[in-house]
Amino acid sequence: MKIYNTLSKKKEEFIPIEPGKVRMYVCGPTVYNLIHIGNARPMIVFDTVRRYMEHKGYEVNFVSNFTDVDDKIIKKAIEEGVEASVISERYIAECKKDMEAMNVKPATSHPLATNEICGMVEMIESLVEKGHAYQAADGTVYFRTRSFKEYGKLSHKNLEDLQGGSRSLLVSGEDQKEDPLDFVLWKPKKDGEPYWESPWCKGRPGWHIECSVMSKRYLGEEIDIHAGGEDLVFPHHENEIAQSEAANGRTFARYWMHNAFLNIDSKKMSKSAGNFFTVRDISEKYDLQVLRFFMLSAHYRSPLNFSGELMEAAKNGYERIVTCVANLNYLLEHGASGDLREEEKALAGEAEGFLEKFDAAMDDDFNTADGISAIFELVKFANTNANENSSAGWIRALKEEILQLSDICGLIVEKKEELLEADIEKLIQERQAARKAKNFARADEIRDQLQQRGILLEDTREGVKWKRV
Ligand code: AMP
Ligand code: ZN
Repeated sequence: MKIYNTLSKKKEEFIPIEPGKVRMYVCGPTVYNLIHIGNARPMIVFDTVRRYMEHKGYEVNFVSNFTDVDDKIIKKAIEEGVEASVISERYIAECKKDMEAMNVKPATSHPLATNEICGMVEMIESLVEKGHAYQAADGTVYFRTRSFKEYGKLSHKNLEDLQGGSRSLLVSGEDQKEDPLDFVLWKPKKDGEPYWESPWCKGRPGWHIECSVMSKRYLGEEIDIHAGGEDLVFPHHENEIAQSEAANGRTFARYWMHNAFLNIDSKKMSKSAGNFFTVRDISEKYDLQVLRFFMLSAHYRSPLNFSGELMEAAKNGYERIVTCVANLNYLLEHGASGDLREEEKALAGEAEGFLEKFDAAMDDDFNTADGISAIFELVKFANTNANENSSAGWIRALKEEILQLSDICGLIVEKKEELLEADIEKLIQERQAARKAKNFARADEIRDQLQQRGILLEDTREGVKWKRV
């Protein structure tokens, strides 16, 4: 399996630190509003990376934080006249709803910055002790960027260029720094803001330190993969590397993965530019599975332009798979029987080829666009090679393959139609009649059929009761 590593600018063979295990950290959203579909891109992309690794047999420890203390959260809290935690808790809950609706699996851990302040203070103390950080007169603690010799290795910038670019900072009032390149680790509180005690002043952490600390706490000092959107490469991830490697004295993350932007009219979709759609907006018009399909129809390192036409194309593509599975289910429910026949065995071998094609695409830096093409080929093959003369074994095998590949992409393609209560009651009556007539085979068949549709029957003294499971 090859992964493009931003650090080396090359595709590299993936070798985990511990065989069979993956430790992965994905920078999560700042929670002050509903997430937009640009924020949804890394969620969907890295959830798919995780699913594929699990499919390959890895045990994935997947950590993704919520930044729950930040200027924008505080501003919103002041506007509403509530505590900052009211805002962050509200939008964490909303974000989790959106994630579930997009079929993004919950992380193994979802740490919150405000629960990890102790660890942040400890790491900053150790950086001060080692001479990598210093306290300015107003209590702010800065990271001494030049003390970390490899600064710039992720974003491929050199210190001299950065120095030129940041000279204006000196003029604009960040006057307590030793060097314009230094960045904040801890800052003093302002009136009305949440704050914590620290050896330097009452205040709160800078943004970058939280990920260094949470990654270490939940995954260890050295991890396999660190990921996020490409806007995080500089300065966020560059600063995370400097802090972690200076504090721990070892490599922070081996592979750095970054998704390209979701654009609108070729401009990055963002809250600040105002050119965004929330996931909630999209859910009013589309099943969010269509959004997921749309995101995966491009390679994660290619910019993706959002448009109505592309969403319609995604809808058609997604429905092609859903329809195929529905047709296979129809054949299964209408008389297909028996195990895989001799003449179908050769076809089954051919169908395996699509799985290999899918894996080959995903092994090549998670090429979901080609992976989806392999699913389409399998769908076409199923449409051609399954019909009312096919055995149930063959139809089931095809369906399982389509479901397996779709599930790796996190796409739910089997629509379970809910049985209406009236239909359930009718089937129960038919089962009672069959039992009375001692036709136990039919009675059992009805019980199994209901069970398959998620209805569990219980024979009680008051009669038959049922529940959905
Ligand atoms: P934020 O809440 O702005 O820190 O963003 C959370 C995550 O969404 C980060 O990984 C960002 O890089 C990512 N992100 C934000 N906007 C976009 C976009 N338009 N396209 C792709 N990723 C984005
Ligand atoms: Zn981060």
